[in-house]
Order: sequence, then structure tokens, then C-alpha cells
Amino acid sequence: MNNSYDVAIIGAGISGSALFYALTHYTDLKRVVLLEKYEAPATLSSSGNNNSQTIHAGDIETNYTFEKAKKVARSAEMLVSYALFHQLQNKSIFEYQKMAIGVGDKEVEFMQKRHEEFKGIYPKLEFFTKEDIKEIEPNVIKLADGSDRAENVVGSGTRKSFCAMDFCSVAHHMVEKSVFGEHQAIFNYQVQDIIKQGDGRYTIRAKGKEPLSASFVLVNAGAHSLFLAQNMGFGLDLGCLPVAGSFFFIPGDKLRGKVYTVQHPKLPFAAIHGDPDVVAKGKNRLGPTALSLPKLERFKPGTYLDFFKTSGFGEAATTKIIWDLFSDSEIRNYILR
Ligand SMILES: Cc1cc2nc3c(=O)[nH]c(=O)nc-3n(C[C@H](O)[C@H](O)[C@H](O)COP(=O)(O)OP(=O)(O)OC[C@H]3O[C@@H](n4cnc5c(N)ncnc54)[C@H](O)[C@@H]3O)c2cc1C
Repeated sequence: MNNSYDVAIIGAGISGSALFYALTHYTDLKRVVLLEKYEAPATLSSSGNNNSQTIHAGDIETNYTFEKAKKVARSAEMLVSYALFHQLQNKSIFEYQKMAIGVGDKEVEFMQKRHEEFKGIYPKLEFFTKEDIKEIEPNVIKLADGSDRAENVVGSGTRKSFCAMDFCSVAHHMVEKSVFGEHQAIFNYQVQDIIKQGDGRYTIRAKGKEPLSASFVLVNAGAHSLFLAQNMGFGLDLGCLPVAGSFFFIPGDKLRGKVYTVQHPKLPFAAIHGDPDVVAKGKNRLGPTALSLPKLERFKPGTYLDFFKTSGFGEAATTKIIWDLFSDSEIRNYILR
């Protein structure tokens, strides 16, 4: 077997799989290999159960700056184009309404301002009054006794767009489309070392497997990316603080599309929201909760040790960051809760 490649990509989550597709379709490289430690693509963060299934375009993510939204809008469009080009509608990509809502005077004012600022990026973005929301998502306004909630509620969003994705099925699709010619995907291959040789090429080793060599190595190993970089002596001044998320199912299909709330500006992830689950059909989900965990894979106790190796504990810079995070009462209370 010829174990020598132009490029080796480590990790078959959505980002490694997309990169595999891009390199095999849009370059003249002859031998690209995708290496994945588990038996299939996208079993961790990119699995349908482990993320919010949202194609983040920056319109309803209230923690995005204008500059970030502009950049993300363009990348999001590429993902939508990929899915539509391959006719993955209702298999991997789904069309719903989406909106971010502000509840109460302070949030209403915030949403009004934000909508005015961001509508230049999104031609289809609409401002929704309480009456509009009542028509689009009645259960956002209706209380359990059938009456309307008292506070003002407004929203900014679109009535119909391809905004939901099963990233796991897209990753599978990208990998299948990329294995042709001499390009390969190898599963159950857990990379342990990447060693630079005297001729500038890299040797990649995995326990119990034949080593491979490549001219370039791209690491897309999710939470383990820093772990692998640090094994090579890179990024020793960086640390990784993993945050896991859980979702709760609510009975029936109370929501017709994605309803995001206003995010706390200090928290770097998307806000609590509710939406139809595209994997567990016919169910709605609420979430995510955000849970800091001292391991790199949520359901793999063996990764506690990997976390301690990459946490940066003991390094002055990362210790200061952790100290600063815990010194902020809002962040501390959020983490502890
Ligand atoms: C609660 C929550 C909700 C989210 N919601 C969204 C959302 O709605 N939309 C969105 O865009 N993003 C969302 N995200 C973020 C998104 O899930 C991740 O950014 C994305 O899935 C990361 O993909 P990835 O390919 O980088 O990593 P992963 O999916 O984690 O893939 C990494 C791969 O590398 C492999 N690997 C690791 N180590 C090795 C090794 N040594 N050798 C070989 N292979 C290895 C792993 O097995 C894995 O398959 C959410 C995240 C969370 C936590």
C-alpha cells in the first residue's frame, strides 16, 4: 500500500469533511487522505444531537458584531449552496422561519437598534411586531391560559429560509463525494504523533496502525486540535476550556421554526433558543445549557487526562484568563449555575 500523501486531514467532523471536499474538488492535488479516530464521520460536536442544527448566518445571533456577521453570512451561504446543489433539501437542510426576539422594554429597544444596523447585510431580514410574531409563532406570545403575555415582544428574522442543517449527514455526504481517484478516508485511525522529518515531510503515527506520510497536515480534530498541536510543540501558551451543551425536548410541535433569544453579551456562544429538531422528527428542542467539563469529549472519561494536558493550568497566561473569568460575577454565576 502506498502510504504517502500530498495532504493529510485529521478529523472528520463537519470542518475536516468540508476541507476534504474542497481540496479534492477545487485543487489539483492527487492524494488527499482524511484520518478519523472513530468508525464514521461526525460523531462528536458535529453529530445531530450535539449542536443546535443552525446554519449561523449572523442575522439572529445577537452576540455577533456587525463585522463578524458580514463574514459569517458569506460562509453560511456557501454551506446552503452546497446542500442545494446536491439536492439535500429535507434530507440534510431544512427551511423554516427564524427570528431573534426581544422581550420587555430593554430588549425591545436593543432589537430595534440591532435590526436597523444589520438589515443592510441581510436583504430578506424583516422586523416583526408582537402581532406579526403572534401570527408566525403563536406559542411565543400565548400563555398557558390562552391569553397573550403582557410584555412587548419584537423580533428580527426571515419568514422562510434554509436555516437548519443536520451537519452529521452533510459531513457523511462530503466524505462520500470526496473518495475518488487516489483520495482516501481512513476510519478507526487515532493519530497520536505528527513528526516533522528532515526532508520537510510529516510522519503520522497511530497506535496499532501503519504510519503514513504527507507533505502537509491539517488538524481539524475539534477539542483535540490543541492537544495534537502541543504534542508538536506549538501553542504551548494556549489553553482549552471545554463547554458542553444539552437540549431538552418539549412535547408536540409548539414552534414552527427557530426562535432565538437575546444573548448575554459576555457569553461567547449562541443564545438559548427553541426549534424543531431535524433529527428527532416531530419534536421541538429547547437549549442549550452550557456546562464546563474537565474533559475533551463529553462521554469519554479517558479524555480527562487530555484535558489536563491542554488546560494550560500552571501557565501564567491561562491561569490569569481563568482567574479573570471567575472574577466576573455574571460569568461565575453562569458557570456555577
Ligand atoms: C451546544 C452546542 C451547540 C452548537 N450549535 C451549533 C449550531 O447550531 N451551528 C453551528 O454551526 N455550530 C454549532 N456548534 C458548534 C459546532 O458544533 C462545532 O463548531 C462543529 O461541530 C465543530 O466541528 P469540527 O469538525 O471542528 O469538530 P468535531 O465535530 O468535534 O470533529 C472533530 C473530529 O476529529 C476527530 N479526532 C479527534 N482527535 C483525533 C485524532 N487524534 N485522530 C483522528 N481523529 C481525531 C474526532 O473524532 C471528530 O470526528 C454548537 C456547539 C455546541 C457545543
